[in-house]
Amino acid sequence: MLIRCTHCGYEWAYKGKKIYYVTCPSCLLKVAISINKHDLKICLICKKLFEKLDSHHVSYKYNLVIGVCEKCHYKIHKTKLYELFKPIDKIHKASK
Ligand SMILES: [Zn+2]
Ligand SMILES: [Zn+2]
Ligand SMILES: [Zn+2]
Repeated sequence: MLIRCTHCGYEWAYKGKKIYYVTCPSCLLKVAISINKHDLKICLICKKLFEKLDSHHVSYKYNLVIGVCEKCHYKIHKTKLYELFKPIDKIHKASK
């Protein structure tokens, strides 16, 4: 992805694995990736960036919602991989 340094304006293509911050090769200051042009969001589970995320309810009682990508959302409901993220109150019906 193309990153623009918010400090010095230097632009470069980033291929690393860090998600929230990278170090600008020009001024060596930290740059937040999440404030990119397209306002990408990070899936809480796979930590990949997406343009839009599904809202998954962890708790209806406390109205706790987490942002996850479509694939991980499916996995939460259809597999036992993410028991931690299953709704604690009642069974969540997928909206789609
Ligand atoms: Zn810079
Ligand atoms: Zn995901
Ligand atoms: Zn859900």
